[in-house]
This record gives sequence, structure tokens and C-alpha cells, in this order.
Amino acid sequence: MREIGHFIDGKQVKGTSGRHGDVFNPNTGEVQAKVALAKHSEVEHAIAVAEAVQPAWAAVNPQRRARVMMKFLELAQKEFDSLARLLSSEHGKTLVDARGDIQRGLEVVEFACGIPHLLKGEYTEGAGPNIDLYSMHQPLGVVAGITPFNFPAMIPLWKCAPALACGNAYILKPSERDPSVPMRLAELFIEAGLPPGVLNVVNGDREAVDTLLTDPRVKAVGFVGSSAIAEYVYATAAANGKRVQCFGGAKNQMIIMPDADMDQAVDALIGAGYGSAGERCMAVSVAVPVGNKTADILLEKLVPRVEGLKIGPSTDPQADYGPMITRAHLDKVKSYVDLGVEEGAKLLVDGRGFKMQGYESGNFMGGCLFDQVTPQMRIYKEEIFGPVLSVVRAKDYEEAVRLPSEHDYGNGVAIFTRDGDAARNFVSRVEVGMVGVNFAIPVPLSYYTFGGWKRSGFGDLNQHGPDSIRFYTRTKTVTARWPSGVKEGAEFVIPTMR
Ligand code: NAD
Repeated sequence: MREIGHFIDGKQVKGTSGRHGDVFNPNTGEVQAKVALAKHSEVEHAIAVAEAVQPAWAAVNPQRRARVMMKFLELAQKEFDSLARLLSSEHGKTLVDARGDIQRGLEVVEFACGIPHLLKGEYTEGAGPNIDLYSMHQPLGVVAGITPFNFPAMIPLWKCAPALACGNAYILKPSERDPSVPMRLAELFIEAGLPPGVLNVVNGDREAVDTLLTDPRVKAVGFVGSSAIAEYVYATAAANGKRVQCFGGAKNQMIIMPDADMDQAVDALIGAGYGSAGERCMAVSVAVPVGNKTADILLEKLVPRVEGLKIGPSTDPQADYGPMITRAHLDKVKSYVDLGVEEGAKLLVDGRGFKMQGYESGNFMGGCLFDQVTPQMRIYKEEIFGPVLSVVRAKDYEEAVRLPSEHDYGNGVAIFTRDGDAARNFVSRVEVGMVGVNFAIPVPLSYYTFGGWKRSGFGDLNQHGPDSIRFYTRTKTVTARWPSGVKEGAEFVIPTMR
């Protein structure tokens, strides 16, 4: 059985805790590898290694740090296909979707190539008599990231690329369910010229995470995962004096106005609701047609599309989506569908019984579609994270603005309409962090920032884009006066510029 250890000081090392997690093949349900779960002292060792090399990395000039990012891009491009295969084999998403996962990660590395420009400070000549004022952005030291299973390339790269480019050393604790791609990405960074020890990967569970959250040498923590853990990480890291940003779960809604292009809306719903088996934090899990007539037209077109979804092994180029990450997750998603039926929602398409021929033990599930879902139901309130779409019928536009605004989660939302006034009003009023107009998965590009509101995001700054540079640096502001400008004598009042 293949064993996955850790990546510390520029090389793969075996785990020494004696504890392991299973990495499954989602297509077959079989265990394909064992991943080491780090103990406290192994994580402490990784932190010590990172702390020792960080000052020298911070002293490398920003252009040279950018060149490491550029070289990494070149190496990752060469390996794109094998990375996608590896990713898909542990996650279960289709190969084409796995390529998207990697590509969206690489786009943040491209952003990080601009670090010489992004790190520039401000300068005011003559802010007072012979006084110059300037600011600079310095790295924090050792920083850490804890990432989820559902984007094993994209999210580790969103986290580590800006952090490294800023001159920090980084400890990544990826999901223990699909750790191989993060491990390979770390190797590629070293091949690209990153000094050993500047990027380390520790695999593990709560013991590893708790060490990162409490060790005083770790200055900042970025987390992405479910909201309950995001809250825990936020509170614990903050109580330990760290800078912290945590991104949590979601329940993204798509509003369909009566004037929307219905074919376009149905295409968007099918892709955003069921792509990647619904295991995306930006998946649309609630469709909100405005008015019963709109709902009826929508469902007439949507039901056959859900029934016709092509589910297949992750290697099948014809498949719309593949298996889910684990059997346990599949069971959880199915139990939510059972719950929806108990709660009185109308199950129009039932994918619970789906079996993939030749892959009977794989974690496959057919698409499910509920109508008549209400805001009081748990299937509306809670994140399901599977191929399950709920339709909530809004009686009018005002209700359609209220639904996502009043939901506990606030990651993404979309409105489909041909009415510019309605779209503009919606964009301005809706209480959600990322909004799409006739665009179902509004994941901002790398030079903007990504982050949800309410229980989808904890902390002040978003991921990637300019916020990532602020998050991974601290600002020093200097007031400088040269001797020719110094007056004789002590001053006892606060200096002002009167
Ligand atoms: P998860 O919360 O189970 O795990 C995330 C990370 O936390 C993993 O590295 C895991 O090992 C660690 N972890 C798990 N339990 C822990 C505990 N008790 N103490 C400390 N650490 C723990 O999430 P997941 O199932 O891997 O990922 C799916 C979730 O991530 C969904 O809720 C999804 O919406 C969310 N997500 C959010 C975003 C976003 O940007 N908002 C992006 C992707 C995924």
C-alpha cells in the first residue's frame, strides 16, 4: 500500500506518529493509500525548519522571488496532465474539472508573479519640514494554511503562492482525504528554486491543526473548510494572538426572474448545481424562480435535464460528474435527501438509488431535485454538498432579495434576468459576498478577492488579489527627518503639522 508522509525541509519524510488516514479511490471505494497523521512534535519540527530559513527567503529580492513563481508555473504546465489525473484519482472529479481546479490555482501563482509591484510601499516627500514619510510591507514570518478536500490544487495555491511571494515561510496542512497533489505541488516549488524548508506540507487531522493554531512561532493562519471548523479555527487562532482568516460553507442561491432567458438559466443551473457532484463551495444549491409561472416553466425544462445527467467514473470524458469523495459523505448527502422528503419537500428527481455499472462500490449518486422547499426546512438551511438542488418559489422580487440576504451563509449568489434595473438593484442590496449577474458561479479572478459573508467567512480580509498581500504582510510606516532639519531643543507636545 502506498504511504504518504509529509514534505519537510525540501523532501518527503515518513510519518512517525503511527497514526494513518485512508485515502480512497472514489470510483471503487477501495483504499488506495495511507496518509500519515502528524503528531504534535512532527508539526513543531516543520515549524522550526520554516522559522530557520524564513529570514534568508525574506531577504531574497522580490523579483527573484517572482522568478521562482514563474518557474513553478512552467513546471506545473509541463505536468498539467499528470497532476489532473492524480487529483481526479483521489477526489473523484472528472479530468476536465480537475484541470480547472489546477488552472484556477495557477492563476493565483500568476498574480503572485507581480509581487515586486504589489509590495511597493507609499512615499511622501516633505510631509513636514525636511520630513519624509513612507510605508513598507514586510512578511510576517511563518504562516500556515489548512485546506479542504474539494479543491486540492486550487486552494493550497491560493494560500501559499501569495504568502511565499511576500517572503513568508509556509506550512500547509491539506485535507487528509486527497493529499497527493499538494505534496507534488510542494516538490515542484522546490524544483522551481524555492529554498528547502520555505514550504512544508504536514498531513494530519485535529492534532496537527491544533499545533499550528497554538504555536507562537506561527504568525498567521488561513483556513478553508466547513463553517463549524472555520469558527473553531478562527476563535482558537485569534485567542493565540494570530492573524486569521477562515472561509466556511455555503448555500448559494440563483434567482430566476420571469424575464430571464430560461434556456440559459437551465444550462447554468445544471452546471452549477451538479458539476463536481455539488462538492463546490460556489455550487448553486438553491434555485429561486420568482413567481409560480416562472417556477413551472423552469421545472418543465429542468426536470428532464436532471434526469438525463451523465454520471460516470472520473476518468470518463463523457461524464458530467463523477463519484463523491467518500462513502461516508455519500451517505450523509443521501440522508439529507431522506430528510427533505420527511420535511415535506417534493422530490421531483430521486438519484439516491443510482448504481454505476462496473463500479458498484463507488461513491456515485444520481442528481436529486426538490420542489416546494421552504426556508424553514433543514435542507434549505444547511449545506448538503452533493448533487441536490432545492427549488424555493419566491412570490415576488422582494422575497427573492430577502432569501439569500437572510440566510446564515453568504458566499455566492446569482440573478438571471434581462432587466438591468433589477440586476443593479439586486447587486446593491443582496447581503452576500460574491454576486453573479447571468453568471452562476461568480468566483472572482485572481486579481480580485474571493470571500463570503456571514457564516461563509470569518475575518477581515479575503483570499487572493490585493487582500492576500495585506494579509500576508504587516505594514511599517517610517517618519524620517535628516539632521539639517532638526531644530535644537526638546519638544514636549505631540508633533503636528499645523
Ligand atoms: P472540513 O471542515 O471537514 O475540513 C477542512 C480542513 O479542516 C481539513 O484540512 C481538515 O483536516 C481540517 N479539520 C477537519 N476537522 C477538524 C477539526 N475537528 N479540528 C481541526 N481541523 C479539522 O471541510 P471539507 O469537508 O474538507 O471541505 C468541504 C467544506 O469546505 C464545505 O463546507 C465547503 O463549503 C467548504 N469550502 C469553502 C470554501 C470557501 O472559500 N468558502 C472553499 C472550498 C470549500
